[in-house]
Amino acid sequence: MKFTYSALHHQHAPEHIMVRGTMAPNLEAPVRAETLLKQLCAQGHEQVSPQGWGQEWIAAVHDAGYLEFLSTAHERWRQVPNATPVIHPHAFAHYSSRRRPSSVQGQVGYYLAGGSSPMTEGTWTAAVGSAHAALEASKLVLEGEREAYALCRPPGHHAYADFGGGFCYLNNVAIAAHYMASELGRVAILDIDTHHGNGTQSIFYKRGDVHFVSVHGDPNVLFPFYAGYADETGEGEGEGCNLNLPLPLKSEDPAWLAAIDQGMASIQAYAPKALLVSLGFDPFKGDPSSDLAVSTEGFRGAGERIGAYRGPVVLVQEGGYLVEKLGENLDAFLEGFMRMRKAN
Ligand code: ZN
Repeated sequence: MKFTYSALHHQHAPEHIMVRGTMAPNLEAPVRAETLLKQLCAQGHEQVSPQGWGQEWIAAVHDAGYLEFLSTAHERWRQVPNATPVIHPHAFAHYSSRRRPSSVQGQVGYYLAGGSSPMTEGTWTAAVGSAHAALEASKLVLEGEREAYALCRPPGHHAYADFGGGFCYLNNVAIAAHYMASELGRVAILDIDTHHGNGTQSIFYKRGDVHFVSVHGDPNVLFPFYAGYADETGEGEGEGCNLNLPLPLKSEDPAWLAAIDQGMASIQAYAPKALLVSLGFDPFKGDPSSDLAVSTEGFRGAGERIGAYRGPVVLVQEGGYLVEKLGENLDAFLEGFMRMRKAN
């Protein structure tokens, strides 16, 4: 299978995030992508570098003011007296008063939600490279590959059209899905990261041409907290095109795989022209970011279920923070996935 990868992600490596009242080591580190890359190469998958993409498809999904902020924030931040080299928001635009201030200190909390989206000098460059990897994988599929995998870092599914959060700046899968929907007509996204894909949901919530399904840990107790509930079903033309399948924390393979079965049944009924998968390995038992308890064999089962889909598939990497198990879990997922693809 062909996979896409941009080494630009190395330019984004903030060392800390704010979590549970303290500055903690940032688990969303370059070693994640390096580990996955090593595994893909060892298994003989063919690497493709993204080429020739500008900002057209990024700007088609994201707000112009937000993109201007992302591309200029660090340079402006450096002019702030006594500012550290890493941007950490300290004040946030609550929904009750979302006025856009002119200063970078104010805009940091307007455009970045929460304490897990620090920015460095290279964050914008890395985020663009990650989005381009998702676009390149989509192009491979549009040009005839049956499937492709985008090794995206930073991840994307928590990024809204006009703000970032939860390690995410540009919504890679949404950018790719919009691109594919404009070529094919209708597509579906299955998000199996342990955290609800709140940004992706928001971007397509009122659209009928992108069916979004998310299987994730209960947002009452797990990030992103403010979206991901079962009664969020879409609005307007998008009514019925959004399916959230939250699971109790500690859920193991049977419950997780049953939810994926339910999600895939909904996707089959929608009859999309292509499927995109937000592929997170953080449902894994022991992942430091979550409290689901999926096993390596569970990922093999997820790969089988998704691989049974007969149309084109684009896999887009999201989270997964237990680095020593990332390669093994990717391997298991792809083994199940490719076996079913070849059988169909
Ligand atoms: Zn996640």
